[in-house]
Amino acid sequence: SVSDEVSTYSKEASSKMFQDAEVVIPGGVTANIKHFAPFPIFMKEGRGSKLIDVDNMEYIDYSLCYGALITGHGHPQIMQAAMKQMNDTGTIIFGTPHELEIKMAKKLIELYPSMEQIRYTNSGTEAILLAIRLAVAYTKKSKIAKFEGHYHGGINQVLVSVNPSPDSAGHAKQPTPVTESSGIPSDETDNTIVLPFNDLEATETILREHKDELAAVILEPVQGGFIPAKKEFIHGLKKLTDELGIVLIFDEVKTGFRVALGGAQSVYGVEPDITALGKVLGGGFPVGAVGGKKELMMQSAANAKGDVFAVGGDSDKTRDVVFHSGTYNGHPIVLAAGLETIRLLEEGNLLNVLFSHTKHLRSRLEKLYASYHIEMKTIGMGSIFNIIFTTEPIKNYRDMWQANTAFREAIDQELLHLGVYLKPLNRYSMSIAHTLEDIDRTVDAHEVALNNVLK
Ligand code: PLP
Repeated sequence: SVSDEVSTYSKEASSKMFQDAEVVIPGGVTANIKHFAPFPIFMKEGRGSKLIDVDNMEYIDYSLCYGALITGHGHPQIMQAAMKQMNDTGTIIFGTPHELEIKMAKKLIELYPSMEQIRYTNSGTEAILLAIRLAVAYTKKSKIAKFEGHYHGGINQVLVSVNPSPDSAGHAKQPTPVTESSGIPSDETDNTIVLPFNDLEATETILREHKDELAAVILEPVQGGFIPAKKEFIHGLKKLTDELGIVLIFDEVKTGFRVALGGAQSVYGVEPDITALGKVLGGGFPVGAVGGKKELMMQSAANAKGDVFAVGGDSDKTRDVVFHSGTYNGHPIVLAAGLETIRLLEEGNLLNVLFSHTKHLRSRLEKLYASYHIEMKTIGMGSIFNIIFTTEPIKNYRDMWQANTAFREAIDQELLHLGVYLKPLNRYSMSIAHTLEDIDRTVDAHEVALNNVLK
């Protein structure tokens, strides 16, 4: 039974590995987010919906590399596509233009009609970096507005008010910008304005006030993949940015292919000027992409003389160039795996099955907690959701403050002993490899976890 597993489960090898790691890697992890108390679990295998740790315990994985693995671990066709790419071409990377770059761009343009041209990067962070630079170059303005609680990678300018505390965040209608890291000179965030998500009226006031300085508004159309923009909010924002000459950037690094093949923009029917993609797009390999209106994207095209750097007022040259580079951009293995991922998702309506499995898990969990009279709900979209211990509506970052996170964390810690893997307090992502049996086991584990916490 599940309870027997708990009593025999040991994390000795993980604990030991963490001690080793801490000596040579700051904090023992290669990304701050991967750390959690008492120590993160070290994995050694992944298969389908499962991860296996260094102590040989198996988990149903709901982290899925922070959403990247929509086909689960080691999908045979994706592994094969990556290996075939290397075998067929005899190389790992050409370091020159190649055909898959065009093939993927065409596919993306088909799925995301707002994107007329595409550039590739190696991560979501780099995609955002290019998106912002394109907007600043295009508008010749310098400020960026972002929403409180929205994450856009580790770029100084937008590493602001991602996770502010109630005592530092300021007024709900005009949030105070809070820098999320030391090591960021204040003049790098002076050009960042913070907006309240899902509050169109307050957003409009701020945007109108700063319209002459604002190059772009950037947002996650579904915050963190689980707090959806209200329909009237996102349509209103689109209208406003069009009117005020501000570039609208959708960060769909998390939502792309996960809330719909065509991302949140296809769900809302709103076309941003620029879109950033990542995660699922690489089939598990590092990736990012930026796409948008041709006149915006063409700024990064080298001019006839092959200049890749901005050339300012030199009359000899035709125009300024937005710098964009990257040794590994458009990596053939990444694109081969990504194209195979998209092919799999398009084939046989797999996304619909995935969405119905996600819905099923959410409703089973809601029923379970309700049967214990615990105030809990799930929120999310498509294949991503979160569990919130509250009955209050959640429409933005601040609404999360009143949720019972201590209770949630206690449940998550229990789940780690019960074969359900999720970084505590993170959101659930599902994959096409998750089965109804996985869902049954997950709900059972929640019941055991709940009883242990209530004890
Ligand atoms: N934007 C969003 C919405 C994300 O969720 C992430 C990653 O979690 C990023 C950007 C950064 O992407 P990456 O970690 O690939 O740099």
